[in-house]
Amino acid sequence: MTRRVTIFGATGSIGANTLDLIGREREAFDVVALTGGRNVHALAAAARDFGAEVAITAFDDCLDDLREALAGSGVEAASGENALIEAAERPADWVMSAIVGAAGLPPGLKALEQGATLALANKESLVTAGPLLMETARAHGAEVLPVDSEHSAVFQALKGEDIASVERVIITASGGAFRDWPIERLKAATCAEASSHPNWDMGQRITIDSASMFNKALELIETKEYFGITPDKIETVIHPESLIHALVGHSDGGLIAHVGPPDMRHAIGYALHYPERKPLPVERLDLAKIGQFTFRAPDPERYPALGLARDVMEAGGLSGATFNAAKETALDSFIDGGIGFTQMADVVAEVIEIMSADSLVNASITLESVREADQLARQRAKDVIDRK
Ligand code: NDP
Repeated sequence: MTRRVTIFGATGSIGANTLDLIGREREAFDVVALTGGRNVHALAAAARDFGAEVAITAFDDCLDDLREALAGSGVEAASGENALIEAAERPADWVMSAIVGAAGLPPGLKALEQGATLALANKESLVTAGPLLMETARAHGAEVLPVDSEHSAVFQALKGEDIASVERVIITASGGAFRDWPIERLKAATCAEASSHPNWDMGQRITIDSASMFNKALELIETKEYFGITPDKIETVIHPESLIHALVGHSDGGLIAHVGPPDMRHAIGYALHYPERKPLPVERLDLAKIGQFTFRAPDPERYPALGLARDVMEAGGLSGATFNAAKETALDSFIDGGIGFTQMADVVAEVIEIMSADSLVNASITLESVREADQLARQRAKDVIDRK
């Protein structure tokens, strides 16, 4: 029997890797909807290639180009946030959530409301609205499967284990592009330098977030929200080889590690075939050739984002939405040349400080309150940036 699949963010790095896997077993899948942003030609090409029912660009001003690129294909074209929600309402068995940023939350929630299995790459969904996302899944008997490599690793290491025996979860970090730079040089780091990852080939935003470790900060929060593990049990360690993705420590002192090549098709493929394991086209590691795994503690001065994540995990509520929105705004400004690399953390810290006094941060988590906190934090971040 074929499975109906939808991919949100089909034109991105995760989306392309997902299509690569699905393309190897075409007979097993029917593609329902593919979505993208401004890259309408890649979107149209994938929609034609996979015979999707509908292709959606998030941006209304891209619709004409998308229509033109799909002419004669029989694939429907649509645009905008409502069209993304309508795509999530189309019956699907498996939905990949791989839009970048907070925009990934509404379609993911809608897919869960339909009872679809949600393969979650969009970590921002858990950071901004973890309790809402997980509760929506429970209420509709739907499953959320982690796709972030670290969380897929924890998920696999926990299989068959009692969560009550977990003493610690260790999320590894490559340390990003600047892990060996002298700290004084970071201020002058350029966007091009931050956009090159030592081990992983990913979208630009997550690559820069790896250099600043905002990506790891999001992942610490994601760990708390997805697995329900308290912040004191969540650790991170720098592992420059990026081969061990996470470790779970149990009450008997043992650590279970997940080891694999830095290839997102492992985590995507695991979620695609879960609960089965199927052969995947990823490198088989030659451990003798690798020789050693190394680790070092992250320097809090080099990576202030990690300390900010601890504050967010302790505060809970809408502080995750605030943190993420401030981070996205600071990242936009860094990419556009408005602020320097190290100023991103300064901006986020200031916004968290300003907004911690706001009653909104303690409001209950609904899609509306998350949107409100998100918008307010973006405005506050812009104000802070303007003052810099
Ligand atoms: P990319 O930037 O490569 O792709 C993002 C996708 O989202 C593209 O399809 C893009 O469209 C689309 N998009 C951009 N803006 C919007 C918007 N406002 N509304 C709707 N769609 C939009 O990102 P990645 O694939 O790297 O990452 C996707 C998600 O997965 C992120 O949350 C990231 O943190 C997470 N992740 C990524 C990993 C990786 O290896 N890349 C690893 C683990 C998690 P277009 O390009 O057409 O404009």
